[in-house]
Amino acid sequence: DEPITPAAPAARRSLQAQVRWGSRLVTVGGDAPVRVQSMTNTDTVDVIETAIQVKELAIAGSEMVRITVNTPEAAAAVPHIRDQLDKMGIDVPLVGDFHYNGHRLLTEHPACAEALSKYRINPGNVGKGDKGDKQFAQMIEAACRYDKAVRIGVNWGSLDQELLAAMMDANSRRAVPWDAKPVMYQALIESALQSAADAQSLGLAAQQIIISCKVSGVQDLISVYQGLAARCNYPLHLGLTEAGMGTKGTVASATALAVLLQQGIGDTIRVSLTPQPGEARTQEVVVALEILQSLGLRSFNPSVTACPGCGRTTSTTFQELAKQIDDFLRAQMPVWRGKYPGVEQMKVAVMGCIVNGPGESKHADIGISLPGTGEAPAAPVFIDGAKAVTLRGDNIAAEFHALVETYIEK
Ligand code: SF4
Repeated sequence: DEPITPAAPAARRSLQAQVRWGSRLVTVGGDAPVRVQSMTNTDTVDVIETAIQVKELAIAGSEMVRITVNTPEAAAAVPHIRDQLDKMGIDVPLVGDFHYNGHRLLTEHPACAEALSKYRINPGNVGKGDKGDKQFAQMIEAACRYDKAVRIGVNWGSLDQELLAAMMDANSRRAVPWDAKPVMYQALIESALQSAADAQSLGLAAQQIIISCKVSGVQDLISVYQGLAARCNYPLHLGLTEAGMGTKGTVASATALAVLLQQGIGDTIRVSLTPQPGEARTQEVVVALEILQSLGLRSFNPSVTACPGCGRTTSTTFQELAKQIDDFLRAQMPVWRGKYPGVEQMKVAVMGCIVNGPGESKHADIGISLPGTGEAPAAPVFIDGAKAVTLRGDNIAAEFHALVETYIEK
């Protein structure tokens, strides 16, 4: 009969990287909270459209926003995007996503190199052999010159094929060869760590380096990041790449990230959702915030506990009230965050009947148990664990709404 220790995410000791823009400093790793990132899907050449989407992502809660920098025109647009954001009062750091020609773009567009706060470098496509080494060195030199952080971002869709072939060859000569998958995992990790070591030997500080090794399978991601975390103390950027659309993408990302974050693995996350037609790009930020809040790693919004409803609830009153309260709380947060410190940790319960209603409401800061089928038409409200008032009549929703507001103000 030993007491059961409440579950909590483990802590992993990592270095701390600093990503800056002006006076805005976003720390990643060390004792910093797990950071949320996102990426635009606009054409970077379109300065206004890109700046607007960066702003939307930042307001939704993204603490860094990555933009594609794939052409000279895109590189030329970057400082203008930064200017637009600065004019809008959006100081979120921008991360440049470079593939194939990043060395040229960073060298030939110094204003772009300066306007970005971090460069994402994919070792799988910086070039091959001596030429690739030179191109990689040019990107690291730019990071050193402009004092920028770098993410060495390996992806198994673009893994260094020479490295993989060499490791497969070495594997085949083992006394007992491994399956192909573990060799692939090792190749991803080797690619990232070799590139990080190369960057350090070129003069980049260890504290300027963040690592990622993204794959698209949940168990693969867990395997790779457990191996990666065991072998280095760089901050790790975590994400299930190409997670997919809608429910599948959301569930797969949450599943993979939750397992690793609970083990203390992951210093910054991105949820890579394919937006459904009409779905806002900010949905990936909403999901990332919910993952961190669900694990108790960070708090962003008051949480609303609501039961699913069942045969005891024939009306939709409680569902409507739960949604109304949730929408209201989220809409107020931009103002409340500065006005009422700690409001994001508040818990509100909206429950459908007497079975679990009073109990769940007592666990919340403020909760209401609406009457189920056959119950007396009374809705007890619990505040700080004790019954405070019982609401009756047709105006229960509005009266509870007012009680929530009063509670927050108090
Ligand atoms: Fe059903 Fe009541 Fe449970 Fe809600 S609290 S799911 S209405 S039994």
